Amino acid sequence: MYKNIALWIIIALGMAMMYQYFNESHSVDLPYSAFISQISNGSIKKVAIKENKITGEDTSGKRFETYFPTDEQLIPMLKERGVEIHVIPTDTTIYMILSWAPMILLVVFWMFFMRQMQGGGKGGAFSFGKSKAKMQDADKNKVTFKDVAGVEEAKEELEEIIDFLKDPKKFQKLGGKIPKGVLLVGPPGTGKTLLAKAVAGEAGVPFFYMSGSDFVEMFVGVGASRVRDLFEQGKKHAPCILFLDEIDAVGRHRGAGLGGGHDEREQTLNALLVEMDGFDSSEGVIMVAATNRADVLDPALLRPGRFDRKVIVPNPDYRGRLAILEVHAKKVPLADGVKLDDIAKGTPGFAGAELANLINEAALLAARRNKERVDIADLEEAKDKVMMGKERRSAVISEREKRNTAYHESGHAIVARMTAGADPLHKLTIIPRGAALGLTMQLPQDDKYTITKDYLLGRISIMMAGRAAEKLVFDHYSTGASNDLERATKIARNMVTTYGMSDKVGPVTYSKHENTVFLGRELSSGALDYSEQTKVLVDGEISGILNGCADGAMKILSGNRTLLDKMSDLLMEQETINGDDVTKLINEYADEKWREVAAKNLAEQETENSERNK
Ligand code: ADP
Ligand code: MG
Ligand code: ZN
Repeated sequence: MYKNIALWIIIALGMAMMYQYFNESHSVDLPYSAFISQISNGSIKKVAIKENKITGEDTSGKRFETYFPTDEQLIPMLKERGVEIHVIPTDTTIYMILSWAPMILLVVFWMFFMRQMQGGGKGGAFSFGKSKAKMQDADKNKVTFKDVAGVEEAKEELEEIIDFLKDPKKFQKLGGKIPKGVLLVGPPGTGKTLLAKAVAGEAGVPFFYMSGSDFVEMFVGVGASRVRDLFEQGKKHAPCILFLDEIDAVGRHRGAGLGGGHDEREQTLNALLVEMDGFDSSEGVIMVAATNRADVLDPALLRPGRFDRKVIVPNPDYRGRLAILEVHAKKVPLADGVKLDDIAKGTPGFAGAELANLINEAALLAARRNKERVDIADLEEAKDKVMMGKERRSAVISEREKRNTAYHESGHAIVARMTAGADPLHKLTIIPRGAALGLTMQLPQDDKYTITKDYLLGRISIMMAGRAAEKLVFDHYSTGASNDLERATKIARNMVTTYGMSDKVGPVTYSKHENTVFLGRELSSGALDYSEQTKVLVDGEISGILNGCADGAMKILSGNRTLLDKMSDLLMEQETINGDDVTKLINEYADEKWREVAAKNLAEQETENSERNK
């Protein structure tokens, strides 16, 4: 409609200009002096005066025009010669339009632009305010609960939502209120997005997907208008699911920014809160949101009546991993006799996405090797790749550096075997992977839920052992140990400030103040609300733990120098050795006393393993 008006105005203007052009092209420009003398000659028939412009016709019918200065004698002179005089008022309509044209054009354009901003136009260049929500129809590429494995508790909780979406009336009969929003919380890659899609698929309702970052745009107010649009669409398509992925992008704690309060994100969040209050879940619209940062969300989002149900989606345990592997392995041909439970056992801490990735990598590896089926070797290699990054066989590393790495990794491995309660040794390698020059890999036997102080001390000792080996053999420290130190320090700090494992500091927690969200956790946490003395005490305890562990590692290694040399020789030769190789070396070269310790630890690991398999 506005487009049409603009078009008509342009056409009218064009016509007016053309009229003017033709109108004037017939007339001759006459100097004022010539005009005066023609009046005296009596050859002027009539004139039209408009402001200081005179147009007219002479007796022969020729048209002319001229401009006159303020000349008071002109009119008496014309009258005297009997010339017909017309006086034209200044503003005829055409002149009006012409002089107002720029203004009118501006207004028309503005109205046009505003309408687009509001999201009235369909997909126009200016449709910022549209929600951009991607709708997925119930029937198309349907995801169901069968595709999501290993998160049984989460599925159970979501089942209720599905029942409601299938038959809303049944639940309202007894006056029960259906939750408005469900918040899926869990680490990245655990299948939150997948779960939400499965809920829509199971319930057979439309599913609107939007990510928190979709709300963030250059223009202020756009996010808020997108939120409103999303809810509008939801109401139109009820019953349906509105899924807000990565909600922490908009849902962060308000008023915590560095740059003052009322920013764009805050407006968006406010709009979201208002909309959530404004709709009634009995209409059949349910909000599902996902985040891996529930701790930073604004409390207002979590209160009853908004996201009042929290569903935790944790990293899968052994059984969950097996189930997820099975789901994804259905898509690739497996060789006979491949046992996925070995892979499931060897991947503690893996999220669903990593397991899916593992199967995919294995299929690619098998294809590259021209195999018909994926076998256990492919799966093992894919596991290492996903766990530790791709091997960088092409990296050029000098003999000296390799030797250094070999001692470093051997140090880790030896101390790992001689520490009671440590995780079993999987393999060690001096082939660079990802950013690391070498790796010693231990695999936790099962998913650990509670961890003891001794176990943590053991971990730190093992981490310190790489550096200790370098010091013992070459009498130098290298940068290769920086990652070990960083992780060790983090553990030690947590032991003292979070887990209350230091007797001197006592059963207090000194960490994490979660209010200054914008600065990020690490920067803002702790350190603010305890005294200088405590600070000194805490720091002392942390370095005490680290030093104690480093000394312990050094003691083990210096007592087993031959073993250390032999192990790094073998590593130089083979580049990768496994737990059995280490056992053999220890039996042959370890110091008598330490050999017994290592044997006892190994036996313990084995009994634990067989117990678990029962
Ligand atoms: P999140 O949203 O929690 O970060 P996604 O749902 O996007 O994780 O998961 C990414 C991919 O990982 C999925 O598409 C799927 O292939 C795989 N995946 C993750 N968790 C599971 C699971 N529990 N069962 C099956 N596949 C999963
Ligand atoms: Mg996701
Ligand atoms: Zn190391």
